[in-house]
Amino acid sequence: MAKCDEGYLCSICGGDVENITQSDLYLRYVTGMIDPELLHAEPERHIRCNPTLAQFIVAEDFEAIHVEGDFDKSQLDQAHVRQRESLITRGWNRLKEIRSLGEVSILEFPLPEAIEKFKNRATSMPSPDVTSE
Ligand SMILES: [Zn+2]
Repeated sequence: MAKCDEGYLCSICGGDVENITQSDLYLRYVTGMIDPELLHAEPERHIRCNPTLAQFIVAEDFEAIHVEGDFDKSQLDQAHVRQRESLITRGWNRLKEIRSLGEVSILEFPLPEAIEKFKNRATSMPSPDVTSE
C-alpha cells in the first residue's frame, strides 16, 4: 500500500498529493462516496482543492475551509450539514489512522458504514445519498 498512496498529481492544482491524508479521492472512498471498483478511474485531488467537501472536516488539526456561494455549508440544511460533518471528519481521521498503521488492505480502508453500503450496493439498487440512521 505505502507505494501506491504516493506520487499522484492533483487534477486541480497540479501539485503532488504527498500522502493519503491529503487525498480527496481516498477521503471519498473511505466515506463510501466512491465505489472500490471506481477508485482507480477517478482523478486524484488534494482535499483542500475540493473545498465543497473539505469544508465538512471539523478538526483541530485541520485548518477550516470556507466556501463562498451556494455550496457554503452555512447555506445548507443544518441537519444535513451535521450529518456530513460527522461522516467526513471521521473519514479524515480514518485516513490519518490508515497512514499511521501502514499495512492495511485497501478493502479495509473505508469506515464500517461505507463497507456496509458497498455490500448493500452489490445486491440492491444504489442509494442516492449517504445512509443515515
Ligand atoms: Zn491540489
